[in-house]
Amino acid sequence: MSDFAGLVAIVTGGASGIGLATAKLLSSRGAKVAAFDVKPDGLPDGIVGIEVDVTDDAQVRSAVDAVVERFGRLDVVVNNAGISAVGDVAGNDDDEWLRVLDVNVVGMVRVARHALPHLRRSPAAAIVNTCSIVAWAGLQQRVLYSASKGAVYAMTLAMAADHVREGIRVNCVAPGTADTPWVDRQMDQAPDPEAARAALTSFQPSGRLVTADEVAGAIAYLASPLSGASVGTVLAVDNGMHGLRLRPP
Ligand code: NAD
Repeated sequence: MSDFAGLVAIVTGGASGIGLATAKLLSSRGAKVAAFDVKPDGLPDGIVGIEVDVTDDAQVRSAVDAVVERFGRLDVVVNNAGISAVGDVAGNDDDEWLRVLDVNVVGMVRVARHALPHLRRSPAAAIVNTCSIVAWAGLQQRVLYSASKGAVYAMTLAMAADHVREGIRVNCVAPGTADTPWVDRQMDQAPDPEAARAALTSFQPSGRLVTADEVAGAIAYLASPLSGASVGTVLAVDNGMHGLRLRPP
């Protein structure tokens, strides 16, 4: 694991799940970390929580500026805030479509847009976007959510092309099913949450869910010079979910 000493990172959605695990990992490796979140509560010492809704461009701009004013630089952006949507193509109305795309796609655009001038001054600039394997592996009842993550995947490649010559690497991680409050909320909505969780777990090729720390490790790798030649790539962290077909027992 690379050393982030002296570097400054922003992690969006940094108060829960994958974002929180990433903020903690980068902080433990020496980075100064700001967690942007609509609810920046309960953060451990050493992580600066800033209340930011990534759908609000003015809030994003002033939060990015506040980070640079406080720490003097910006090196790493982890675009991770996201919300879910359940349903087939008839399952979400236009307002829901626009809301989810606003958070999951345009939210990343806003943070990157305001971070770019600062990242251009960093010798170790990296953006890591949180995608999902649903960007390319069809999952039932997730049309809107998958569309948002497909956009994140394509946007990651285009951003990488735009900024590689400026020394800013852009990559993304694609978690499978990661054991975070996100999954807890979905299981809690099932008629029998315990049975739903057992079914979800046995569906995984490794027989277990991905941990938030495992996704954080992949994000930290893509944010560090250890992945210095990775540009415009997607790193799946999914227990083999997108690529394996196991025979029935
Ligand atoms: P989570 O719900 O535990 O955390 C998401 C965080 O984002 C929360 O703290 C929430 O307050 C914050 N957030 C939501 N909307 C926001 C907004 N408008 N502005 C700022 N912050 C906002 O979820 P998680 O599982 O840690 O998911 C993080 C990312 O990982 C998401 O982009 C999600 O799509 C992606 N992902 C998760 C899984 C999974 O199985 N958990 C799988 C693939 C991809």
